Amino acid sequence: MKKNEYYMLQNENYNIYFEDSFKKLKLYLPKNLSSNINICIITDTNVGSLYLKNLCENLPYFNIFIYKINPGENSKNIYTYIDINRYLISNAFSRKDLLIALGGGVVGDITGFVSATYMRGIDYIQIPTTLLAQVDSSIGGKTAINLDSYKNVVGAFKLPILVYQNISTLKTLRKKELMSGYAEIIKHSLIADINYFNDLKNYDFTNFDIENIKEIIYKSCAIKKTYVDSDFYDNSNRMILNFGHTFGHAIEKEYNKLLSHGECITIGMMCAIYISYTRNLISYYEFDTIRKVLSKLYYNKHKIDNFNIKNIISNINYDKKNFNKNLNFILLNKIGNAFICDDITEKELLDAAKFALK
Ligand code: NAD
Ligand code: ZN
Repeated sequence: MKKNEYYMLQNENYNIYFEDSFKKLKLYLPKNLSSNINICIITDTNVGSLYLKNLCENLPYFNIFIYKINPGENSKNIYTYIDINRYLISNAFSRKDLLIALGGGVVGDITGFVSATYMRGIDYIQIPTTLLAQVDSSIGGKTAINLDSYKNVVGAFKLPILVYQNISTLKTLRKKELMSGYAEIIKHSLIADINYFNDLKNYDFTNFDIENIKEIIYKSCAIKKTYVDSDFYDNSNRMILNFGHTFGHAIEKEYNKLLSHGECITIGMMCAIYISYTRNLISYYEFDTIRKVLSKLYYNKHKIDNFNIKNIISNINYDKKNFNKNLNFILLNKIGNAFICDDITEKELLDAAKFALK
């Protein structure tokens, strides 16, 4: 890889930059930002203590406000949303001011939703600091909070004005969070690019290397961006990005305290390749090759003695029935090519679950 080959992805609405520090952020900020605007950096306490100081040193503005939330999914709720809005009101933020999301997908999703709704819309910048946020949640403008046990059920589509990835922040990320990001990365390769999958096949996921990861993040963002650009409101082609997620979400609902999102969708992808194979869409060789790669990520399966397959299947059926959703299941017809399938049977779901969870 040439060192500077992978530094930017362009979009008609915003750019995504890939850097190793916060130093270049000031160069990429929109030129029309007035120097006396208010900026509110929203972060969580973990990320804040690691990166806030350095970020602020690289922002050429005076009126910087900080809002810290508690780390983790539990903060992605209506109460945090209200508190952030109250904070902005009490500091007289107007629609001309700016929000910055510094953190993982939780911070990015809630900041994005505040940005979509505060005074009917205020600009925001994404500075994702987890691998999952860099390859997935910071791209594509989906913002949301959770309500009761329903994930991402209240939200809006709102694009950031800039995504600035400081890849070196990943050096402090825990292994569990890195693995979650790798699961989305494998997903991208499986649905869209066989050469990318072949590169990843031999990748040592336990040995974090900052130069290699930059190229990987770039490629994954490019794939995600292609699907988003072709179907922003998620009515057709963008659904392909849900590969592994129908099962994954149903497992996550049951075991979210024990398994990460990445582990759940890895199991979900196992189910999807099993159905693809039993339908003769992919060969045994392809099936087995993918299975071996996924097994490298699926490292905490042993935490659960006996998966409750009945509950997992009924979670899938519950969503289908209560939200009037078609069961759009994403299958592979070869490595690097996926399609939406709407005729999956109950027996196929059950057999796939038995295979992946045994
Ligand atoms: P997260 O934001 O909870 O971060 C995981 C943990 O890592 C937290 O404890 C955080 O404090 C810590 N952390 C973050 N950056 C760090 C760093 N550089 N060094 C050390 N620790 C760091 O989790 P996540 O996996 O990034 O995001 C999950 C969320 O993303 C979920 O709520 C999910 O619904 C959402 N998501 C959204 C989209 C979308 O399109 N909007 C897509 C996928 C996922
Ligand atoms: Zn996901």
